[in-house]
Amino acid sequence: MKVLSVASEIFPLVKTGGLADVAGALPLVLAKQNVEMRSLLPGYTPVMQKMSSVRKAKVAEFSDLFGVKAKLYACTYEGLSLFVLDAPAFFQRDGGPYTAKDGKDFPDNWKRFAALSHVGAQIAGGLVEKWVPDLVHMHDWQAGLTPAYMRYRFAPDTPSMMTVHNIAFQGQFGADIFAELDLPAEAFSMHGIEYYGDVGYLKGGMEIADAVTTVSPTYAREIFSPEFGMGLEGLIRARADVVHGIVNGIDTDIWNPETDPLIAANFSASKLKGRAENRAALEAHFGLDIDDGPIFCVISRLTWQKGMDLLADLTGEIVHRGGKLVVLGSGDKALEGALLAAADRHAGRVGVSINYDEPLSHLMQAGSDAILIPSRFEPCGLTQLYALRYGCVPVVARTGGLNDTVIDANTAALSAGVATGFQFSSVTHDGLRLALHRVFDTWEEPKMWAAMQKNGMRADVSWERSASQYVDLYQKLISARGH
Ligand code: ADP
Repeated sequence: MKVLSVASEIFPLVKTGGLADVAGALPLVLAKQNVEMRSLLPGYTPVMQKMSSVRKAKVAEFSDLFGVKAKLYACTYEGLSLFVLDAPAFFQRDGGPYTAKDGKDFPDNWKRFAALSHVGAQIAGGLVEKWVPDLVHMHDWQAGLTPAYMRYRFAPDTPSMMTVHNIAFQGQFGADIFAELDLPAEAFSMHGIEYYGDVGYLKGGMEIADAVTTVSPTYAREIFSPEFGMGLEGLIRARADVVHGIVNGIDTDIWNPETDPLIAANFSASKLKGRAENRAALEAHFGLDIDDGPIFCVISRLTWQKGMDLLADLTGEIVHRGGKLVVLGSGDKALEGALLAAADRHAGRVGVSINYDEPLSHLMQAGSDAILIPSRFEPCGLTQLYALRYGCVPVVARTGGLNDTVIDANTAALSAGVATGFQFSSVTHDGLRLALHRVFDTWEEPKMWAAMQKNGMRADVSWERSASQYVDLYQKLISARGH
C-alpha cells in the first residue's frame, strides 16, 4: 500500500511541536506493516541545508506555483522517504516555519500552504509517474486544502484522510483569497472550504476527506462539544461516523533511557538508581539547590492552552513544600516574563530556560521526578509519554490524550498496582494545588513512588498498536472507493 503523507513539519528535519514527532515516527512503524509512506514537506531553509548532504532526484518543476518558481525533489533522509517542495520564495526565510523573527505569522501563509496542498494533490493525481499513492493522509490546517485540490482538480478517485492534531489552529482566511486558490466556484460552499463566510483550510479538509482522525479517543469525543470543537463541532457531529480517535505513540528508539546518548547516565526500570546522575546533572544545569525535594519539570509551549498561567501563579506552592521546578519552553511573552520572575524570586529552587532545546528536554525527562502538564485541552500530548518511559511521573489535567495515557493514582489503581501518574479534573488554581499536594504526599512514600515509576516505564507507549489502527482505516477507505 502506498500512502502520501502531507505535513508542514517532520522530525528530525523541522519541528515546532508534536505534529513533527508524529509525522516523523509514523512512516517508520508503518513500513513494518507493509505501508510505503512518503512524506511531502516544505523545503524550509534548515530542511534544504540538511538535504544538501543527501542524494536527491528532481521529480517535477513548476514555473508558476502560486506566482513562484518551485521544484519537487524525492530523497531519503534517516529512513524517511521524502518529497521536498523547494519553493525558495515561500519557504527559505528567516524565522520559523510559520512566523517571522518577530513571532508574527507570515502574511502569505495561506498561499504558502495552499501551494503545499496543491502539490500534494498533484502527486495523488500522478505527477510523479513512478509513485502514485493509493491514499493521501494529511495533517493539520497547513495540509487542509489537499482534499479540496484532490476532489475538484487532480485526484477525485483517491481516498484521503485528515488528521487533526489541534483543532485550535484552523487556518481561517478572508474570502478574498478564494479567487487565487485555483479552485472552481463550487468549492466555496458549505460542503467545500467555505467557513462562516471565510475560507477554512482545516474545515475544508475535515469536510472533504473520506475520514477524519484525531490523536486520542478522549479528544475525539471532546471535539463534539462547542468548548473543544471551537466552531467545528457542527461539522464533526454531521460526520460522526467517519471521526476516529487514534492515540499517538512515541519513537521508542529515540526515547529510550537505556541507550539515550543525550542524558548523563542510562538507566532502566530495574536499574532506577541511574536516574540519580541525571538528577544531579539537571540540578547543575539549572543551578538548583542540592537536596531531596522532588524536581518538577515542564517542557512546553508557554501558552494558555497549556495552563502555564496557573503554573506561574503556583511556583510558590511548589517551593513552599520543598520542591523544585525546571521549565523549558517559549511562547507568550507575559508568561515567559512571569516564569522568569519566579526563577528570580526563588533562586536555587526554580530554573527557567526560554528556549527550544531538544537535548535538554531529554535530560529533563531523565532527571526530573515529575512532569507537570496542566493543559486546558490536549489533543494527545507527547511529553507525558516520554515521561512515562523515563520514570518521570506525569501530573496531568484529565483531558484529551492525557486522560487516555496516564492512570491516576486513585485508591483503586494503587491497590491494583497499576497507577502511573496523577490526574486532576478542574484546571484551576485549586485543582492544580490539590494535585500538587497529592504528589508531595506520595513522594514521602518512596516505595509507592518507585512502583508508579516502574509501572509507567513498563506501559506500552510505542506506535505499534496505533499504527495497526491507521492501517486498518487506510484499508477500509481504499476498499470503500472500490480500489
Ligand atoms: P504540542 O504539539 O501541543 O506543542 P505535544 O506535547 O504534543 O505538544 O508535543 C510537544 C513536543 O515538542 C514534544 O516532543 C516536546 O518534547 C517538544 N517540546 C516542546 N517544547 C520544547 C522545548 N522548549 N524544547 C525542546 N522540546 C520541546
